[in-house]
Amino acid sequence: MAFLSIERITKTFGATTTVKGVDLAVERGEFVTLLGPSGCGKTTILRMVAGFETPSSGTIRIDGKDVTDLKPHQRKIGMVFQAYALFPNMTVADNIAFGLKVARKNGAEIASRVKEMLELIKLPQVAERYPYQLSGGQQQRVALARALAIKPQILLLDEPLSALDAKIRVSLRDEIRAVQRQLGITTIFVTHDQEEALSMSDRVCVMSEGRIEQLGTPFEIYNYPKTRFVASFVGTLNILSGRVSDGAEGRIVVDGQEIVTSRGLNGASTGDALAVALRPEALSIGRANGSSNNLEGTIDEVHFLGSVVRIRVRFKESAVSLDTFNRPNAAPPERGQPITVNFGREDILVLEGAPN
Ligand code: ATP
Repeated sequence: MAFLSIERITKTFGATTTVKGVDLAVERGEFVTLLGPSGCGKTTILRMVAGFETPSSGTIRIDGKDVTDLKPHQRKIGMVFQAYALFPNMTVADNIAFGLKVARKNGAEIASRVKEMLELIKLPQVAERYPYQLSGGQQQRVALARALAIKPQILLLDEPLSALDAKIRVSLRDEIRAVQRQLGITTIFVTHDQEEALSMSDRVCVMSEGRIEQLGTPFEIYNYPKTRFVASFVGTLNILSGRVSDGAEGRIVVDGQEIVTSRGLNGASTGDALAVALRPEALSIGRANGSSNNLEGTIDEVHFLGSVVRIRVRFKESAVSLDTFNRPNAAPPERGQPITVNFGREDILVLEGAPN
């Protein structure tokens, strides 16, 4: 059985059902991220696991034990929030010691645990400082140490990086993951940032409107999205309208040009309208021979992003973005230039449902 088991959990506030029958099984030591737009119910799920909210129905088990009706302090859970929730009038050491004092641990044990936690977060020198004397990133590391000091069974992280500068965010991702791995602690991370979710997690749970859309490894979620929502929420995606010209051979006509997919038509057959998705990095410039697909268009926009140059190519009625790597010794393509966009048969993803 999974270490954390969320079974058919529902949460209703007044007339609104925020979480709609969610099932989620998290293995011991696993790092699972709840990813979804604002308001989809991520935080509510986290708060139910922590015991700050009671589910309207359903069961939560930790290590086989039903904790649905237990108070937060009876669950041994560590939590880190988005805003720095450190006690401003306490030193770093006292912040980290807080939960241990509440649990009536003795002084020597507390002192040694605080030292251990400061080493874990690589801030042994800040014990006597106050939160206002730390950077935002350091404060979040202390918040992590405080959450972990009580040796929780589960670590819950609610958008802990979203208030930080871009550069610190990226380095803290690695630090959080390293600490999590070192302790082997089962973790649920909440974010609306898809890059954060893909880069940090063992598995990602994509949510929309109180439901799980898809649960899988970052690789599965990105390359094999099961729903249109997942396909467009995770990563940049070109979506084109098409019509199946030959169902048996996977042939589709897009904007007057024919392409062929080897990944199936998602239930569509000859004559059906469908939506075709292509990732920018799957597209390249130039005509390829053999079994690949070629679409003829014109360069509409060129965005120089540094390591990547993103090019917008217009066909008759639609357009796609594609990424090429910057080459300092080659001039970037120019607007108005005719161009062939090339991609493989396996790069075409046919989305569920008809095109919009
Ligand atoms: P965000 O990233 O904005 O925090 P989220 O996916 O975490 O979004 P939740 O915070 O779980 O979403 O909120 C989901 C919905 O439930 C929202 O519409 C919110 O207004 C509502 N909600 C959450 N808590 C309460 C509450 N205590 N009372 C009433 N409605 C609530």
